[in-house]
Amino acid sequence: MTNNNGTINQHCDVIVVGAGMAGLYLLHKLRSAGYSAIALETGDDVGGTWYWNRYPGARCDIESLDYSYSFDPDLEKEWQWSERYATQPEILRYLQFVADRYDLRRDIRFSTLVKQANWDEGAAQWNVTTATGDTFTGQYYVMATGCLSLPKEPDVPGVERFSGATYFTNAWPHEGVDFTGKRVAVIGTGSSGIQCIPLIAEQASQITVFQRTANYAAPANNGPVRAEHQQKLQADRDAYREAARGSRAGVPLPRGEEPFFTVEPEERERRLEAGFALGDLLTISSSFSDLVTNPEANNAVQEFFRNKVRAKISDPQTAEDLCAKDFPLFTKRLCLETNYFETFNLPHSKLVNLRRTPIKSITETGIDSTEESMEFDAIVFATGFDAMTGAIVAVDIRGCDGVELKDVWAEGPKSYLGLNVHGFPNFFTITGPGSPSVLSNMAVSIEQHVNWITTTLNHLRKEGLQTIEATYAAQEGWVTHVNDYADLTLYPVANSWYMGANVPGKPRVFLPYIGGVDTYRQVCNDVVEQDYLGFELSGSSGSHCNDGVVRFVKPDVQMVLDLIASLEQAPLESLPLEKARQQMEANTANRAPGPEVGEISDGTLPGPFCDLDYRLYRPTTEGPHSVVVYFHGGGWVLGHASSDDPFCRYLCVESNVLVISVNYRHAPEAPFPAAVDDAYAAVNWIAINAESLGGKSGSLAVAGWSAGGNLATVVCQMSQKQGGPKISGQLLVAPVTDCDFSTTSFSDNAEGYGLTRNLMQWFWNNYCAVSERNDPRASPLRAESLAGLPPAMVITAELDPLRDEGNAYAAAMQAAGVSVKHIQAPGQIHTSLTAVDTVNSANGVRKAMSDAVRIFSNYH
Ligand SMILES: Cc1cc2nc3c(=O)[nH]c(=O)nc-3n(C[C@H](O)[C@H](O)[C@H](O)COP(=O)(O)OP(=O)(O)OC[C@H]3O[C@@H](n4cnc5c(N)ncnc54)[C@H](O)[C@@H]3O)c2cc1C
Repeated sequence: MTNNNGTINQHCDVIVVGAGMAGLYLLHKLRSAGYSAIALETGDDVGGTWYWNRYPGARCDIESLDYSYSFDPDLEKEWQWSERYATQPEILRYLQFVADRYDLRRDIRFSTLVKQANWDEGAAQWNVTTATGDTFTGQYYVMATGCLSLPKEPDVPGVERFSGATYFTNAWPHEGVDFTGKRVAVIGTGSSGIQCIPLIAEQASQITVFQRTANYAAPANNGPVRAEHQQKLQADRDAYREAARGSRAGVPLPRGEEPFFTVEPEERERRLEAGFALGDLLTISSSFSDLVTNPEANNAVQEFFRNKVRAKISDPQTAEDLCAKDFPLFTKRLCLETNYFETFNLPHSKLVNLRRTPIKSITETGIDSTEESMEFDAIVFATGFDAMTGAIVAVDIRGCDGVELKDVWAEGPKSYLGLNVHGFPNFFTITGPGSPSVLSNMAVSIEQHVNWITTTLNHLRKEGLQTIEATYAAQEGWVTHVNDYADLTLYPVANSWYMGANVPGKPRVFLPYIGGVDTYRQVCNDVVEQDYLGFELSGSSGSHCNDGVVRFVKPDVQMVLDLIASLEQAPLESLPLEKARQQMEANTANRAPGPEVGEISDGTLPGPFCDLDYRLYRPTTEGPHSVVVYFHGGGWVLGHASSDDPFCRYLCVESNVLVISVNYRHAPEAPFPAAVDDAYAAVNWIAINAESLGGKSGSLAVAGWSAGGNLATVVCQMSQKQGGPKISGQLLVAPVTDCDFSTTSFSDNAEGYGLTRNLMQWFWNNYCAVSERNDPRASPLRAESLAGLPPAMVITAELDPLRDEGNAYAAAMQAAGVSVKHIQAPGQIHTSLTAVDTVNSANGVRKAMSDAVRIFSNYH
């Protein structure tokens, strides 16, 4: 409909912004599902990225065979790529071909910039306004605006003063540029700079490249489409595409299984050389499991890349300047290059290292650096994008109660799955922040999002529902999960656009999801299967919501659980005792060792029935040290003085204390109260002999994990009752404090998180007759009074059957006036709290533990 003032007003089911790869497929999919939809696009044709970025040398860096749509086998058969990495004109032709083939242009409004989008709660629809005042209303609003579509303003002083020609790689003139005989400056050496510099150098009489940060780059080794790839695809199209969807990065490559340093040096070198020669982004990173998590491994491969540069460049200083050194490899997108480094061997090329020689200003005729004035005919800016969030918040988007998305995202984007934002019903982002997006083959990620959104709209339609909106809890949970994953990697240390670090003032937050395309797809499917977990769905007949957090186990904890599951071991409680002990022993043998301590010595001390083994961990610092008597875990049945070795080392080093891990008699051979008697005797003996062991007299704390936590606090109760040695503090890590199996944590966490209800039952049955379990020396929570106990640090794990009894014990001690610090660690399991150097997401709580022990050692 045309208004009186000539503006347009149109209604449809779905308003889409953007007609790039995402907008095109979405339009097709929506139409096929029977929705009316319109796409609004600033450009005057389709293509998005491939419409705007027409600079010389612009190409994809994921092989074209993979970087293309897979939704229609006929389309795939009709289009043949001429090269392994197609150029921009060919990719644009492909997207134009798609638009024509599915007759999409009739529902796209070109040369239309969307300025504003408001959610009208009463009408349950979005009102969208363009720069020319046209308005569109729709039940759903989808931003298919691209992750790399809003150019970043160049932050070089004097840009406006230059009287020569200026070009931006991301808004290149359609008619092309002839640099023949021109003196050209290029500012920026990211992917676009690296692609265009060699081709500009072929024409220019002089090329000067201004580089702030050198980037890692591998040779593209472009050529015809790889025959083996083509054959694989043609042999079984579905299997090929499915392998891509089920891969880490959306390209059919297996995930690296082996840590770098576990591979023999010659084999490591062979894999690096082969990956490098192959010329692609992902082979090297997929050759090992830990290149983005282990700094040493990353360093080794960085050096491999730097040596390749050094071998290519004749001038040693230029070579060093071109070597990336400021950030870990892969934490910025690896670039693929063709003749890039060789360009700097040409007599008419020059590299200006802005770290050494910054630009003072752009002038009327060129660029003044701190060292010289240079004259140019043209300046090319390859200065990148305000990535992932820029194009979204460039539109004034207002959700419920007029709240502006820009404000909600002021400290970094918050989104559920990178698809929807709490407070913004019926609003979707394609490849939004918090989804794999730019860390993946975007063609695969775009298709997955479009399919998910369409499936969701179909569901709403089928159920007679009008709106869908992420809940606050689900969104917070997802944001935490995205950050947890990033924090396990080296990505957050780089000043990359993944971190928003290229745009002044942009919050420093890791924007995409690093868990992988495969993992992420599973998450999205799980959400649907669990009745749209974390979404509120509403219609005229009311609303319903299965609220919750879709991934609450910490990512590294999940990896450990997956590894354990892959071993397919029989449950411990199903094994004969000796076999159970052997299995536990075998499992602990492969752990990370924990930090180096000053000295480890083994000894025995007299117990009430027999000598007890102990292992002593001494710090490197000069003694005497405060003493911590430590009791190992293992359900009173398994384990020994060195079975919690990494954790004991950790406490020794981090708290600077002498840790003495004492063995005690085990059940069922020596049932309750044997372990208690031994533990109490050990503390008494150590208190008396502290000095001769190199400890401080009168400064003794106790600590224990699991059943060891039970013994540690039982010892405190006994010592207090019987006038035993003074104990300065108790560290109780996931302790057993009661024999009650009816708690919520025992039902919620009965299985699937390492320690199971059945196993715990087996431990108790071995340890203690049912008639004796009410004894506070077995169930310390049942003590008559907890008053006067030493200060305590109690750590419980959210996903532990023992969680509630640990929490109850902390609360009971607090109620009795004991000084208690208590942390319930979210997303952790019974065994992860002490998994030093394996479960890094527990580093924070571990630090709290070691701090507490340090503080205990000051109370004496
Ligand atoms: C040089 C370059 C090379 C790349 N190479 C690869 C590669 O090899 N592999 C890969 O996976 N990815 C690559 N990418 C990422 C690439 O952006 C995606 O692969 C993909 O093209 C994104 O498609 P899209 O439709 O989501 O977004 P885009 O292609 O960015 O399209 C978004 C569209 O939305 C329009 N738009 C934005 N805001 C508004 C508004 N307010 N109003 C109206 N219209 C608006 C824009 O004009 C644009 O046309 C590359 C990116 C660049 C810049």
